Amino acid sequence: MSSKYSKIGLKAGLEIHQQLDTREKLFCSCEPKLFKGEPGFTFIRRLRPTQSELGQVDSAALFEFHKETRILYEANSESACLVEMDEEPPHDLNREAVEICLVASLMMEAEPVDEIHVMRKTVIDGSNTTGFQRTCVVALNGEIDIKGKKVSIQQVSLEEDAARKTGKDGQLIRYRIDRLGIPLIEVTTAPVIYSPEEAEETAFAIGRILRATRRVRRGLGTIRQDVNVSIRDGALIEIKGVQELELVSKVVENEVQRQLTLLEIGEELKKRGVKEADLAEDFVDVTPVFRNTKCKVLAKAIEQNKPVLAVRMRGFAGLLKRELAEGMRFGSELAGIARFWGRVGGIFHTDEMPAYGVTEEELNQLGKLLNKEPMDAVVFVADKPENANDALKAVVERARVALRGVPEETRAANPDGTTMYMRPRPGAARMYPETDVPPIQVTKEYVDELGSRLPELPEQLMKRLMKDYRLNQKLAKQILDSEYLDLFECLAGETKVSSTVIAVTLTETLKALRRDGVNVDAVTDEQFRGMFGLIDSGKTAKESIPEILSWLAGHEEASAKEALKSLGLGMMSRKELEDLVDDVIEKNSEFVELRGKGAFGPLMGIVMKKARGRVKAKLVSEILKERLEDITD
Ligand SMILES: [Zn+2]
Repeated sequence: MSSKYSKIGLKAGLEIHQQLDTREKLFCSCEPKLFKGEPGFTFIRRLRPTQSELGQVDSAALFEFHKETRILYEANSESACLVEMDEEPPHDLNREAVEICLVASLMMEAEPVDEIHVMRKTVIDGSNTTGFQRTCVVALNGEIDIKGKKVSIQQVSLEEDAARKTGKDGQLIRYRIDRLGIPLIEVTTAPVIYSPEEAEETAFAIGRILRATRRVRRGLGTIRQDVNVSIRDGALIEIKGVQELELVSKVVENEVQRQLTLLEIGEELKKRGVKEADLAEDFVDVTPVFRNTKCKVLAKAIEQNKPVLAVRMRGFAGLLKRELAEGMRFGSELAGIARFWGRVGGIFHTDEMPAYGVTEEELNQLGKLLNKEPMDAVVFVADKPENANDALKAVVERARVALRGVPEETRAANPDGTTMYMRPRPGAARMYPETDVPPIQVTKEYVDELGSRLPELPEQLMKRLMKDYRLNQKLAKQILDSEYLDLFECLAGETKVSSTVIAVTLTETLKALRRDGVNVDAVTDEQFRGMFGLIDSGKTAKESIPEILSWLAGHEEASAKEALKSLGLGMMSRKELEDLVDDVIEKNSEFVELRGKGAFGPLMGIVMKKARGRVKAKLVSEILKERLEDITD
């Protein structure tokens, strides 16, 4: 496997971001908690970087700026104050967050810096009300062991999380600032990862160490991975926002495949004799072709007086539909670029035609207007002239780059492990000092003291889970890789429910429920404790766990007791059970007559099925035996 990747010169690096579980935010005393429902207040800003900042903004950022986007920020008073609104300077750096970062750094054998300096990193997409993100390096030059290989950790930083995007209407973007300012640790590896599997193992190992601090937040979106991937003759591609560790290897694999196919396409174009000069910005208004079209998108655009602009792609026939990697086509790359630079909804191209109601006849006319030859493709788009023009310009530019191979860019990860064009890759990080926050000294005494009481490392934890709770190795590892280590230890300590049942619930059961679309992240520790308390005291059986959790996930404030009541999963009384047994015997009287005491097994099965989760098997067996004896004696 790895020889395949070393042959093509794969190099990958990771940036792992994990929210820290602090009482307050990084630069103010607000509660680090996301809110649901309507915001308490909103405010609108237009981003206008000052002159001094403009000098450090690259073309991509400038482009964003020129789009004249307005931002609607949503907030409530528990999770945001004047600091998040950028109406008040930041307070001092949160010491609790600094300490967690230092502890994690020491666990990765990184060397803490002498003095922590807060810096500003320009961010211009509106995700920070200030136009920059505050970040500081906490430690450097660590390493972790991945199956005997040392993977070096370049740096460990502490950063403020950004606001979260909640919507977009045209030129107005909505962001919620409850997340803004939540402390994040950022762990950056060197680009020394040489296979997709190694990338995933490294991501898991770092995740395990961060969780072993016992001071990180859990739930979807609390850990996010960025992956950098390059291959020889390809380009360095930055992939943002891989939300699950399990997806890391797939994302790397897809990116390698994407770059290899792009290189093939470049070769193919050269073979076809295509030159950059063949790809010209000659856009033709082809609106008349589609005057009576059955294609809904085009018809609607034309009705709104938007023209259909088209461009000939010399020598590209068949290449636009080529699959770059599983689920990603070259045509979608062009569409992504067109969406970003032209603000259009998407593009049409002849490789996917006839389709969408566009007829053969319309395609013939289109071809004639553009002097299309058999080896050419045509891309067309319907939008405002300015947008359509920008979109096609970007498409042509991207097509020219295809002759040279793979362009550097920033891509966004999709939940299925594919990626899509996000924006051009910014230049080197633009940083300047945050003068509002004084630096923090990190003394040798403090570091030594933290070093003397480091939490257990993942390997030690694993051994202890197997020994203290008698978990098998697989289950111990699953608990370590889950976000429920603390809760597991708490539940195993305070109830007499079997540790294995608790561990299976917190790993496999939750995973299965999540797959079925249950929002298990919404279930609180209190609700878990309530549920296991009921099992512990015999008020319900472990078989009802999935149903109770599904119910709790949809009832935020409710208790496990209420779940039990609502689901009718409380234990049956002896009387109820006796009635059920009698009923089952009566319905199967012929069978009982025939088999006598031998009917016990099958009847036991029927009763258990009917009373699933509401009885103890021992009691059923007791009553059933009694009854059968009465009858057959
Ligand atoms: Zn605040």
